[in-house]
Amino acid sequence: MRNEIIKVGVIGVGHLGQHHAKHYASLPDADLVGIFDTDTSRASSIASQNKTNSFSKLSSLLSHVDAVSIVTPTQYHSDVAEICIKAGKHVFIEKPITKTLGEADHLLQLAIQNKTFIQVGHIERLNPALLALQPYNVNPKFIEIQRLAPYTIRGTDVPVVLDLMIHDIDILLSLVNSPVKTIRASGLSILTNSVDIAHARIRFNNGTVASILSSRIAKDKVRRVKVFQKNLYATIDLLLGLTEVYKIVDNPDNNQDAVMTVPFEYEGSERFIAYDKPPIPQTDALQMELENFIKSVQGKETPIVSGKAGRDALKVAIEIQNLIIQDIH
Ligand code: NAD
Repeated sequence: MRNEIIKVGVIGVGHLGQHHAKHYASLPDADLVGIFDTDTSRASSIASQNKTNSFSKLSSLLSHVDAVSIVTPTQYHSDVAEICIKAGKHVFIEKPITKTLGEADHLLQLAIQNKTFIQVGHIERLNPALLALQPYNVNPKFIEIQRLAPYTIRGTDVPVVLDLMIHDIDILLSLVNSPVKTIRASGLSILTNSVDIAHARIRFNNGTVASILSSRIAKDKVRRVKVFQKNLYATIDLLLGLTEVYKIVDNPDNNQDAVMTVPFEYEGSERFIAYDKPPIPQTDALQMELENFIKSVQGKETPIVSGKAGRDALKVAIEIQNLIIQDIH
């Protein structure tokens, strides 16, 4: 498939799925063959906006494509993905991969059996402010992540842990190369019947500790990651697209792009604090994610967020959610 144009479909074209359709319609290596949505008038309208077809049956769409994006509400991810994988299609599933761990494990197994792959839409992994951290040799000892959002009805079909916190769990698991050792969590329902505010403290086998706070009851949006390690502190504003790194260095000449403080005495020798603000490219994370999916179908790349990574983030999220429920009762 290396040089083939990939025939792709979008299943579920609501708030987010419409953007999947728009991006596929403009990607040079993708041919947006069609759309399926149980809301047929919505399907026709998004199809005509993107000069493609709407299909009245999922099976008809599947007979025309190599791969699909699944952007239905989370509760339907598992059933829809199962049909697609059994039809031999590669699937991009929006986050969270599924509602339960059993469903995710079943899909991963089916994908192996049917020689297809699953990619998961943990879009923050492609946030350019987070990508800007890559050159800094990050090996965090403590991580603090906050994601706060004003209340909207969207996403409240699942607890805040599965809606918002799962983004940060995925970021965390990508930053810390060690298994989770212990989790403590607490949370509260405020406006809905499920948990609206959640806090988790996660300790990894290598000693790294993380604190994650997620809330869908906030005045302003906040999405911030702080990383602390020996000789380095980084703060990443995922919303503003701003990454700032403070490093202790012993030779200012090797850090010409950074702003230096005056020298100070540290562990017996003269050191400097270098402040670095790497340039953040103006990229569209969804476009990059879908480009990566199409190139993965072609065999030129591998998925940035695999089905296994989506499953691992879900496992931690469900553990946190269960701990919160135990804590409340
Ligand atoms: P939405 O309710 O706006 O849209 C869902 C669409 O799916 C609707 O048009 C609905 O008619 C259709 N649909 C429902 N059941 C279907 C089925 N069985 N087959 C085909 N179509 C079906 O939802 P949304 O806000 O776009 O969210 C969709 C998914 O995307 C959710 O899993 C959500 O968690 C995820 N999401 C991810 C992000 C992110 O940052 N990556 C952001 C928002 C939403």
